Formats: sequence, C-alpha cells, structure tokens
Amino acid sequence: MLDGASKTVFHLIARSQTFKKLASHYGMRQPSSFARRFIAGETAAEAMEAARAVEAGGMTSTMDLLGESVTSLDKADAATRDYIAVIDAMIASGVGRNVSLKLTQLGLDVDKAMAIDNFRKILGRAEPADFFVRIDMENSPYTEVTLEIFETLWRHGHRQIGVVLQSALYRSENDLGHINALGGRVRLTKGAYKEPKAAAYQKKADVDAAFARMVKTLITTGHYPAIATHDPAMIELTRAIAREHNVAPDRFEFQMLNGVRRDLQTMLVKAGYRVRVYIPFGREWFPYFMRRLGERPANVMFMLRGIFGERGSS
Ligand SMILES: Cc1cc2nc3c(=O)[nH]c(=O)nc-3n(C[C@H](O)[C@H](O)[C@H](O)COP(=O)(O)OP(=O)(O)OC[C@H]3O[C@@H](n4cnc5c(N)ncnc54)[C@H](O)[C@@H]3O)c2cc1C
Repeated sequence: MLDGASKTVFHLIARSQTFKKLASHYGMRQPSSFARRFIAGETAAEAMEAARAVEAGGMTSTMDLLGESVTSLDKADAATRDYIAVIDAMIASGVGRNVSLKLTQLGLDVDKAMAIDNFRKILGRAEPADFFVRIDMENSPYTEVTLEIFETLWRHGHRQIGVVLQSALYRSENDLGHINALGGRVRLTKGAYKEPKAAAYQKKADVDAAFARMVKTLITTGHYPAIATHDPAMIELTRAIAREHNVAPDRFEFQMLNGVRRDLQTMLVKAGYRVRVYIPFGREWFPYFMRRLGERPANVMFMLRGIFGERGSS
C-alpha cells in the first residue's frame, strides 16, 4: 500500500493515456518484458507452464484468467466460455484444480441475474471435476453484492466456492463473523483498491491492525482460511497465532501473487507451511498490472526502466 504523496503521484501516472499506451505496448512483448514479472503470459499454455513451475517448488496454484468490468452480454458470455475452456485445459494439463474469478468479468455490471447464471455455468463444469472456485473481491461498490451472491450459492449447496475479504474495509470484520458462521472459506487480503474514507481505513497502520485481528479470528475459528499477504510481519503473526492455539499447518494456507516475494514463498514451504500462488494470465492484464504498481513505488521505476530499455533497443 502506498501512503500520501507517492499515492498521488501514482494516480497521476495511472490516469495518463500516454503511459497506458506505452505500458500496454511494451509490457508483454518479449519474455523479458516488465509486465511478465507479475503476469504469467497471455495464453493458457503459458499459465499452465507457470503453474507447473510453482508446483515443482512444492506449492499449489490458483489460476486467474484476467478480465473485469465487462460491459456487454456478449463479452460476459465470451468470458464465461473462456473460463470453461481454461478449466478444461487445466484438467488436460494435470495442474492443481483451483481458479479465481471476478463477478464483473461475468457481467455483474450489465445484469446481475446473468452474471449469476454465468457463474453457475462455470460451477457446472468445475464442481464435478472437484475444482475450488474463489470469487475475488473487487472495489467496495461490489462488496455487498459479491457476498450476497456467494451466500446464495452457498445456501444452494455449492460448497466448492470461497470469497475474499479486505481488511481495509470497515465492514470486513463483521462480514468475517457472518461467513464464519455459515462455514464459508475466506481469503484474507489487505485490499488492492483505492477506497473512499467512508468505506475504508486510509492509514496503512489501521489496515494492518485490522488484518492482524482478522488473522486471529480466521486461524482460531475459520474454515481452511487463506492468509494472502507478502507482509513478513503478518506472516510471522499468523504462524505465532497458529502455534499458540495448536492449529496445525495443514488447517490453513498462505497465498501470494505470482512474481512477488518468491523468497518468502520458498521460506514458508521449507518451514512446512502450505503456500498457494495466484497465477494471472490473459490479454486483459492492464488493470491487474496497475494494481500491482500501486502497491509499491519501486514497481513504477521497474516498469519505467522496462519501457525505456525496450524503446531504446527497438
Ligand atoms: C493470493 C492473493 C489474492 C489476492 N486477491 C485479492 C482480491 O481478491 N481483492 C483485493 O482487493 N486484493 C487482493 N489481493 C491483493 C491484496 O489486497 C494486496 O493489495 C496485496 O497483497 C499487497 O498487500 P500485502 O498484504 O502483501 O502487504 P503490503 O503491506 O502492501 O506489502 C508487504 C510487502 O510485500 C511486498 N509487496 C506487496 N505488494 C507488492 C507488489 N505489488 N510488488 C512487489 N512487492 C510487493 C513488499 O515487500 C511489501 O513491503 C490479493 C493478494 C494475494 C496475495
């Protein structure tokens, strides 16, 4: 998470059309292009290769076919078909059966009932093949509807699904109590979106403090929770709480993003913990990539060096 001035500078860069053009053009062009640090590639084959590499390192993966904020029924239909094709490709390639998706990718902004229908179609293929499907959490205008859709499907007997909570939001601790009572599986994150004061803590210290409280609730009363963070302090805290309450390392998992803190991923595996790596891929990588830049000023420099390096050499 960025604080103060760097956040303002980042948002100015993010709104620049010139920047968007340059980043989109140069980001994935070559195997060494800068966006590939976070994104496995534009094709399913590249994503499977990334998943196999993760699995060879003793970890598991979750596959994310990038896409969000779809604005037409046709595009939502196409995204649904694409997801089903990814599931088929995963079955064929033998990688771990776990995917993550966003409801706006399935048409939530166009028509809620259709988005639910599309989600059910995906579950229709995923569940018989024993996949776990995680609904990613988008920005706060979608929190209520996302949790409502999760709960409705859960109550209809779909038990291979889970949701995400963001400690940045004031409401999340309450939501956690509710989902725990249902028996649902939660991925805990800090939250990747710039949120208004009315909905979310603005200071990193407050987001971290809420994350720490939620870790304690999840480790002691959650249902196979996922602690999704690269923050060494939060990872240490999770381990300490688990030890203190005699919660075995196979009762929860850590999750991290592809390309972020591989050192911590390896360290946790060696220490006997479960680690799942989130593997995003696909042509619609720009918004995801921008959120990763927003989390760390050094990433912006990394990308600018990439753009100017590639321009210089082309
Ligand atoms: C598996 C997974 C799934 C996620 N799903 C969602 C979701 O559905 N909805 C949502 O809103 N957010 C999601 N997130 C993102 C999350 O909300 C945070 O924005 C992100 O994880 C950064 O926060 P952090 O907990 O790592 O801690 P921070 O305090 O932000 O970072 C701690 C340390 O991690 C490293 N780090 C963090 N981010 C980066 C980066 N981009 N590049 C390089 N180093 C970095 C740095 O060393 C940093 O000092 C997900 C994160 C993970 C790991």
